[in-house]
Amino acid sequence: MKLLSTIKKIAETQPNAIAYVSENQEISYGELWKKAEKTASFIINLALKPLSPILIYGHMQPEILPAFLGSVTAGHPYIPVDTSIPMERITKIIESSKTKLVINVSAEPLFIEDSSVQVVNPTQMSSHPFLPVTFDSWVKENETFYIIYTSGSTGNPKGVQISANNLQSFVDWMVEDFPINGGLRFLNQAPFSFDLSVMDLYPALASGGTIWAITKEMIARPKILFEELKKSNTQVWTSTPSFAQMCLMDPSYNQELLPELSVFLFCGEILPISVCEQLKERFPNAKIFNTYGPTEATVAVTSVEVTDEILQEYQTLPVGKAKGDTQIVLLDENQQPVPEGEKGEINIVGPSVSQGYLGQKEQTEKAFFIYNGVQAYRTGDAGYMKQGQLFYKGRMDFQVKLHGYRMELEEIEYHIAKSKFVKSAVVVPIYQNEKIDYLSVLIVPAEHSFEKEYQLTGAIKKELGEVLPAYMIPRKFSYHEELPITPNGKIDRKQIREKVLL
Ligand code: AMP
Repeated sequence: MKLLSTIKKIAETQPNAIAYVSENQEISYGELWKKAEKTASFIINLALKPLSPILIYGHMQPEILPAFLGSVTAGHPYIPVDTSIPMERITKIIESSKTKLVINVSAEPLFIEDSSVQVVNPTQMSSHPFLPVTFDSWVKENETFYIIYTSGSTGNPKGVQISANNLQSFVDWMVEDFPINGGLRFLNQAPFSFDLSVMDLYPALASGGTIWAITKEMIARPKILFEELKKSNTQVWTSTPSFAQMCLMDPSYNQELLPELSVFLFCGEILPISVCEQLKERFPNAKIFNTYGPTEATVAVTSVEVTDEILQEYQTLPVGKAKGDTQIVLLDENQQPVPEGEKGEINIVGPSVSQGYLGQKEQTEKAFFIYNGVQAYRTGDAGYMKQGQLFYKGRMDFQVKLHGYRMELEEIEYHIAKSKFVKSAVVVPIYQNEKIDYLSVLIVPAEHSFEKEYQLTGAIKKELGEVLPAYMIPRKFSYHEELPITPNGKIDRKQIREKVLL
């Protein structure tokens, strides 16, 4: 695979160049490749089933990159799982992916009930005798390189399989079409279990750049965050618009803090015009790109540079034009192309579209199809085309983005309804300035012995914390005798929205 060969070559020709900085620790390209080879050698020695995935548990520790590269050079896809994911969800991921090896790069011990699953840490792997790893063992072409689990409407997360070819198509586009080449410093804000992280990780490694990790502990403490940003001297900024918006609240977030910042790459949610205007004022030398795409099509497939002309011309920003090897097709409910300017479902056709969800045939068949002989994905996003630019017009289902995190309201409802304290529940997003501010849940409670509502809320939240990551737990809980029902017997979300918004 070209990407892996490039990283190997950088490790050989510029072994001292810094690949990754995390929590004051630096790892050079030379060390990265050496550690990846050691990891691969350990994995190969285990003789796991060919292509069986390896779960990598951690946050942004320095050892996480060698674990990713070690897996794929040993011929196994990896599943990045952030430490914010609760144990029950990890168990589901292990079961559904049939993982037999977990590499725990975090400092916390990880206990997996299933005794057929081996859990190892980097120290155990490095003390293992080293056997040379050859190119033949690497993940190739249509074999899966990584699997990212996203929220699923049925209550279980879905594993999106991204192949070596999918990733190569994405990385080639980034390196060729964006001004990010030449060993620049990239900011990494998204945990590795979200595919936004792939937008800095592999383009940086493919161009001899440095990835600077911004951990969740730093993000939680603004003073430390800003000190770290200053130290990073970031040149390529990759984040959700929400994260940049949060930084903009501090007046010191400007060119003085990051004098070399030359590119902002945004993806994952609507990029508000106001954010771009402020960024242009504070970072007059930087270019801003809005990119669009789902995990299923490998990070992003369209892009537009947000120039002054674009800002003047449009009231909402376009998400841009498709990358060269990809086609965007807007289809109506009869699967017919819609004329220019009309709203349709955004379908992505091209070489970065995944083969589907791991082990989930039905969901794969619903979302993926072949269009003119090429792999295609129905995004569930509505959009329209104008003057060659794609515009995003919201979702056609109950998937939402909150602070950049993708989630299915139905998955949250499924877990709340499973609580013994709940008869039925519906989750509604509450908007502020056209953006989701928080989630509110309306509950018809089952019999319980709590005196106060806050105690009931505490008990339900405790149960939820065991199955859902914290960002998926609604902020507001309210209790009702019944929920409004439509004439055909479904929960009437429209009426609820109106009621909740009152
Ligand atoms: P994820 O798989 O987490 O990347 O989420 C993909 C979804 O995020 C897409 O299907 C869209 O609904 C939304 N999304 C991604 N990029 C953008 C963007 N630039 N503007 C608006 N929504 C976006």
